[in-house]
Amino acid sequence: MSDILVTGAGGFIGHHLVKLLKAEGHKVRGVDIKEPGYEATAADEFMVLDLRRWENCLKATAGAEQVYALAADMGGMGFISANHSLILHNNALINLHTLEAARENGVGRYFYSSSACIYPEYRQEETTSAPLKEEDAYPAQPQDAYGWEKLVTELLCEYYTHDYALPTRVARFHNIYGPLGTWDGGREKAPAAMCRKVALAEDGTSIEVWGDGEQTRSFCYIDDCVEGIHRIMQCDYDKPLNLGSEEMVSINELAGIVIGISGKKLDLVHVDGPQGVRGRNSDNGLCRETLGWAPGVTLEDGLSRTYQWVKAQAEAGHDGSI
Ligand code: NAD
Repeated sequence: MSDILVTGAGGFIGHHLVKLLKAEGHKVRGVDIKEPGYEATAADEFMVLDLRRWENCLKATAGAEQVYALAADMGGMGFISANHSLILHNNALINLHTLEAARENGVGRYFYSSSACIYPEYRQEETTSAPLKEEDAYPAQPQDAYGWEKLVTELLCEYYTHDYALPTRVARFHNIYGPLGTWDGGREKAPAAMCRKVALAEDGTSIEVWGDGEQTRSFCYIDDCVEGIHRIMQCDYDKPLNLGSEEMVSINELAGIVIGISGKKLDLVHVDGPQGVRGRNSDNGLCRETLGWAPGVTLEDGLSRTYQWVKAQAEAGHDGSI
């Protein structure tokens, strides 16, 4: 079995991906600036390294046959909309250095985790905006620095394939959620934040929702995400593919589902807050055609599993250290 490097292995998706790769019998090295927060890594080897630094990227990629590049300085809308410079600076360094180090160390295949945030703002101005196809990415107009950096790294992957014959695969994740993801502290995303608010709320009271709550999204469960990553890495198609669900809901509906799961009676109070684009959904046509597969876990099912985990964390007062 080949030697695989997963960067961002201390984070949410990277940690789950390491588990999947280990279950398939691969030898896995995890790298991150921190260890996983909620459970020990399953990786054979875990290196704590800052991948903004060139020499660390050389160490991380040495001997790897395949690289899954998931390391990024990121968070939910609250973090992304308030840290443009930090995000562009740190993630550009991580991605430029990791890909070049992979080339120098003779890596055989490289996976890059892009995002639905690369899609242009002008295609996402209505709550009912059409589901996004891969070809909709251009003319480019991502909303935030986070999306611009992802788009440039997508191009970098394409050029490395063309110029250096380094095979690359790119997935555009659409709002991944599930157990073992950040649920408090400011970097959490809407599903985990909603689960936390509902879990901590007294029955008969209310929870806060940013904006009018009519903004729409689709949310993809972590098991579908890691399976999709693995399938994309193995397929022959080398252009970006959506990796998301097509089950679009408003944030008010998302809150309603979580409240229903909790069995509590809670009202929604709408407050000022960053909302991101008005409406976004994934078009999985190309994903289905290419992989013969698409994410299938329902939002109700995925949120039930996520709510139980977040509730247990919140009740235990867990602070993110093992
Ligand atoms: P995460 O924040 O849980 O994981 C990212 C990891 O990268 C963290 O553990 C972090 O410590 C690590 N990292 C940050 N700076 C680093 C550095 N300088 N050196 C080494 N490691 C560093 O996020 P995630 O949800 O697991 O996301 C994984 C990847 O998927 C990221 O590239 C992210 O941009 C992308 N993505 C995620 C989503 C989502 O909904 N979760 C959506 C679109 C794209």
